[in-house]
Amino acid sequence: MRVCIHRGTHEIGGSCVEIESQDRRIVLDVGLPLDSEPAEVSLPPVTGFARSDPSLLAVVISHPHLDHYGLAHKLPLGTPILIGPAAQRILEAARVFVPGDVGFDSVIHLQDRTTVKMGPFAVTPFLMDHSAYDAYAIMVEADGQRLFYSGDLRAHGRKGRLFERMVADPPCGIDVLLLEGSTIGRTGQDNEYPTEDDLEVRFEQLFAEASGLSLVWCAGQNIDRLVTLYRAARHVRKQLIVDMYTASVLRAIGNPKLPQPGFTGFRVFLPWSQKQTIIRKGLFDLANSFVAVRIYPEQLADEAATSVMLFRPSMAKDMEKTDCLAGAQMIYSLWSGYLKEDHQRPFLEWLSGHDIPMTHCHTSGHASVADLKRLAEAFAPRMLVPIHSYAPGQYASLFENVHIKDDGCWWNVAGAALNGPKDNK
Ligand SMILES: [Zn+2]
Repeated sequence: MRVCIHRGTHEIGGSCVEIESQDRRIVLDVGLPLDSEPAEVSLPPVTGFARSDPSLLAVVISHPHLDHYGLAHKLPLGTPILIGPAAQRILEAARVFVPGDVGFDSVIHLQDRTTVKMGPFAVTPFLMDHSAYDAYAIMVEADGQRLFYSGDLRAHGRKGRLFERMVADPPCGIDVLLLEGSTIGRTGQDNEYPTEDDLEVRFEQLFAEASGLSLVWCAGQNIDRLVTLYRAARHVRKQLIVDMYTASVLRAIGNPKLPQPGFTGFRVFLPWSQKQTIIRKGLFDLANSFVAVRIYPEQLADEAATSVMLFRPSMAKDMEKTDCLAGAQMIYSLWSGYLKEDHQRPFLEWLSGHDIPMTHCHTSGHASVADLKRLAEAFAPRMLVPIHSYAPGQYASLFENVHIKDDGCWWNVAGAALNGPKDNK
């Protein structure tokens, strides 16, 4: 088995790993690099990407985040895609409202710990805890060798038990572990992240203290966080108002345990920008499907004190028009680093212009360094290769058998491990 990481050896984002055995190939993820537009970025030079080629057996999408699927729409029609069923439904529900496209016309669904055989490969997905819903780590076996791709994972979300199960009972005989390291170099080795349960307690306090509307800016596809917000809101007898895009995604997942239209205290607001999309695309049936749980602009001011509302900066004008901002608070529930970016200045100015205080309440979508170490020790791979990290150079101080690779270089699973530490750069 030979491997080429086309993108991701020295960056977070744009992950793409090609694996070859017996002249057949599969690809793990075909992501968009961070801070890039799809039009600016070419597909990696994989045979079968520019035009169909029977030697490319499948492209696996580990989870529905742009940095893992964002170039998939450029693949030739008919390219076999392996993706989680809920992940596919999320992307299809989201495409109605967000720009970009996902064109999967030949799909095989991933199922936790169910092996898919493709030519010389056996591909086994493992459902993992991550801020994306329906996220998998992927084990690839061929030629008597085993490669394990972590995808993106963590231990402190609502599915943390999946991580603990993996640490307690890891697959044995892993030759290569491609290990994400999003948090390496960003936080100290001993830094533990709050769990979603911790956040739930904190949100509950914040919602209880608020005399006006609680606005929360979080990712509409961070399903764990939406559950946290709904639970915290209900604990203090407030309703959760989400925009129609988020409500569509929650409903599309098809998990009856997730908050969605029909749940007590779950309301749907249609922001101006999404209303334009509905009109432009003629999606009136979609809008009508939420009519029983809609909250309209003229109702917001009256219900502000008993409401938690999902917010994004594109909704600032909607909020102003409804006169619901007296006593409002903003809770920022994304990575704090984004706020330092220049383009966030109008948002911060909008907050101060309306005297809206802001609190940060968030936890990472990625494992702490301590948790990554536990995982690596449990796997004890013959070779551990950094991926999805800005600090591959720090891996050797944290893990055993680290081999740093470069984008676009082919290497052999069997041979490289035997080269020993000389292979380190
Ligand atoms: Zn990622």
